[in-house]
Amino acid sequence: MSYTPSGDRYKTMNYSKCGKSGLYLPKVSLGLWHNFGGNDVYESSRKMIWHAFDKGITHFDLANNYGPPEGSAESTFGRILASDLRNHRDELVISTKAGFMMWPGPYGDGGSRKYLISSLDQSLKRMNIEYVDIFYSHRPDPNTPVEETMSALIDIVRQGKAIYVGLSNYNPEQTSVAVEILNKNGVQCLIHQPKYSMFERWIENGLLDILEQRGIGCIVYSPLAQGLLTDRYLEGIPVGSRASKAHFLKPESITPEKLTKVRKLNLIAQERNQTLAQLALSWVLRDKRITSVLVGASSITQIDDNLKSLENIDFSSDELNAIDEVLKTV
Ligand code: NDP
Repeated sequence: MSYTPSGDRYKTMNYSKCGKSGLYLPKVSLGLWHNFGGNDVYESSRKMIWHAFDKGITHFDLANNYGPPEGSAESTFGRILASDLRNHRDELVISTKAGFMMWPGPYGDGGSRKYLISSLDQSLKRMNIEYVDIFYSHRPDPNTPVEETMSALIDIVRQGKAIYVGLSNYNPEQTSVAVEILNKNGVQCLIHQPKYSMFERWIENGLLDILEQRGIGCIVYSPLAQGLLTDRYLEGIPVGSRASKAHFLKPESITPEKLTKVRKLNLIAQERNQTLAQLALSWVLRDKRITSVLVGASSITQIDDNLKSLENIDFSSDELNAIDEVLKTV
């Protein structure tokens, strides 16, 4: 099967500047953590990428260890890139990361220069590309001096292996220190990638302020709380869902208390003529400091559902208060 991108692909998506940089990102970006690995059906992964690109999703987020097995999401993406998008590389923003456990021994985990530089070389080979657009330090490593981790990011940019660099999972203090080092060396931190959703609001306590002050963009991951903030689990745990197959969303974390909140939020969504997934995403995007929401998806239908969140990202103060009440109470 061959693919020709839709001529209308830039007609409906909204794009925002990433912090004070000149780079625009789509308001909805697609992450390949799940559903794009070697154990998934290649044709289904392929069609989701086609569909996303047809809808103006230009940013695809990866990491060295996405799969399973680890590395296979990058291989899948590289294969799709080579077969279907080879004439469109410059229309894409491809990111990858290193920081969590990737290979055995002391050099396949953490924040050492050795790990980050060799991991990016492996990622480029798996995707069969010469550079990524964004390379992230996936997490702060308490066992590596931050100067060393940042020196890897700085040299990766100087070598042309990444156009921009970013930080993920760094707290406000760690972010300030890391950004300072990058800036002193003439490299801008383009973007931060933290976890954020109605169920996980830590970035409201300082991180977003720091990013705004320093002109750094913010792309948030797991905005749907891995599917909890959708109608996916309202009637139990469906076969094939993340909670049924991956250990990252444990069935026992879907507690009756959580489901009570989800049901109440679902009613608020209905009043806004939105699905719960759309409410969850538009709620994240209500804050203009959020450059993009990084969603995962296991089907084209989910991608379309999520894209519709862009049609209504304004909230009245009554709606915001009602959401806060639900999140506070059981
Ligand atoms: P989400 O919170 O968006 O969860 C995605 C899951 O929710 C999907 O796999 C699907 O589950 C379900 N879902 C999505 N849309 C819908 C819908 N409309 N209706 C019903 N269910 C829906 O994000 P992820 O946790 O997947 O994270 C997104 C991306 O963020 C990752 O792919 C990765 O790129 C990045 N990330 C970064 C991390 C970091 O440390 N920097 C950590 C984690 C993620 P199902 O598969 O059950 O259908």
